[in-house]
Amino acid sequence: MNHIHSSTKEYDAIIVGAGFSGLYQLICLRDQLGLKCVVLETGDDVGGTWYWNRYPGARCDTESHAYSYYFSDELLKEWTWSERYPGHEEIREYMNFVASKFDLKKDILFKQKVTSAKFIEDSNNWNVKTDNNNFKCKFLITAVGCLSNTNIPKIKGLENFEGSYYHTGNWPKNGVSFVNKTVGQIGTGSTGIQAVPVIAAEAKHLTVFQRTANYSIPARNKPLTEEFKKQVKENFQNYKDLIKRTPNAHPFEISDRLVSDVNSEEMNQIYEKAWEKGGLQFRAAFNDLVTNFEANKTASDFIKNKINETVLNKKFASILSDIDHPYAGKRPPIDSNYFETYNRDNVNLIDLRRDPIKCINKNGIETEKNNFDLDIIVFATGYDAMTGPLLNMNILGKNNLKLKNDWKEGPKTFLGLQIPGFPNLFTVTGPGSPSVLTNMPMAIEQHVEWIRDCISFMIKKEYTTIEARSNLAKKWGKEVNRVANKTLLPTVKHSWYLGANIPGKPRVFMPYAGGLPRYSKICDDVKKNNFEDFILA
Ligand code: NAP
Repeated sequence: MNHIHSSTKEYDAIIVGAGFSGLYQLICLRDQLGLKCVVLETGDDVGGTWYWNRYPGARCDTESHAYSYYFSDELLKEWTWSERYPGHEEIREYMNFVASKFDLKKDILFKQKVTSAKFIEDSNNWNVKTDNNNFKCKFLITAVGCLSNTNIPKIKGLENFEGSYYHTGNWPKNGVSFVNKTVGQIGTGSTGIQAVPVIAAEAKHLTVFQRTANYSIPARNKPLTEEFKKQVKENFQNYKDLIKRTPNAHPFEISDRLVSDVNSEEMNQIYEKAWEKGGLQFRAAFNDLVTNFEANKTASDFIKNKINETVLNKKFASILSDIDHPYAGKRPPIDSNYFETYNRDNVNLIDLRRDPIKCINKNGIETEKNNFDLDIIVFATGYDAMTGPLLNMNILGKNNLKLKNDWKEGPKTFLGLQIPGFPNLFTVTGPGSPSVLTNMPMAIEQHVEWIRDCISFMIKKEYTTIEARSNLAKKWGKEVNRVANKTLLPTVKHSWYLGANIPGKPRVFMPYAGGLPRYSKICDDVKKNNFEDFILA
């Protein structure tokens, strides 16, 4: 019986995911090119990553006035953020505001998890399946996010745990109460560092299980003043220009000054000022912090001193400041009272390097040396980043080429936008693009608009398919490595940028570290050249 097949729905374009990427891609293809489109979304509302990330303290660490769509002046005028960094609820409100302003929901099908996508060579179409539907389209665009495939590590005995456990990236919609609960949290990345203070304030007791110590800079979040809100609205063109010219698309300039340009007293004053200001901008205090080990050490030492000054329990201070990678070599977290939280009486810290987790039993977590009885375990253990969400969809290209097999040794893409062997498939913020190294909405807008222009060109020139060339994808992979190696990023061997957090994942540096402006210029040149770098047929 094949009644599903008989009800196959046909579209010009299918967009997978209703986050920042998917919503804007729908606007571009439906409203600007007039294509028949649908967005398939697993959740029951818009939001993408922010639909799932509702953990305590979840907040974006890009400043709100930059964490916005910039494609519509009208939208910029109409929406006003309330705090320096937007919280998860407000981001979802924003995305709902965008969805209703552009009437997007009528073309989004919710609760549709894509289970497979197969390119049909006879018709040059993609067949896309969800749990209960079949679709067909000419262009398939993945807008699935880079950090959407949660990773709960395989710890022996988890299935025996009689309490509750949650991954931060798949948080219950109605929240979790920690009142009178004894909680264990595994993970101290950007997420864990945000969650710890909020959970500690509510729970009876919190034990944090830290494997790798991490830097963090105070976020200094606060409500925005009316004056600042007004100033942003009056100057959004200037902000747009600034965001578009800085390498990471953040609303601040990176200093030209090198650490060696100043004496140690000046250096400390600069760091103090940056620490007081707070936020990701700390790493922009000097030009060479992410490229020069010696320069970086001055920032790393400054932060370690701050940790030691803040954390009163000397044992905790030593565990927290025992950081063995350069500052900002991994994604640098920012926080609200993270280190201060270790001064509370109801917080404990376990150094997993000295006392590793042995197993989870029915009562809680068992380390080599201790037993921790817990009501709740919070996994702030990150994601199978960048490639995970794509590989999850069971994508089959030409000649039944499985993406999973094709990427066994790491992702192969041209510009992070297309994959050889997978015609008419576009990957918004795919591996090999600036994506996670930038303020995401800006990287997303650049990709989405490029994809729109590419499809528009194909329609005008009556091309049926576009496909990345193998040789150019190989060359691009080398370029991604080359620019990464100019920074300290690939030196951090346990980083998720390299896939090192997932057992068995190939160790390949995935995002493009050459900056968004340079990357955009490369993409623009390809466009100006009538997409000749691709195989058009
Ligand atoms: P993450 O950076 O990968 O951190 C995961 C944490 O879990 C690390 O401390 C890791 O330790 C630990 N961990 C993983 N497996 C473990 C195991 N088997 N045993 C013990 N510890 C384990 O994940 P994340 O914190 O969710 O952040 C991911 C990314 O999401 C960030 O880098 C950022 O790009 C984004 N993010 C953004 C925001 C924001 O904008 N506000 C907030 C949160 C996250 P090791 O370091 O030893 O592997």
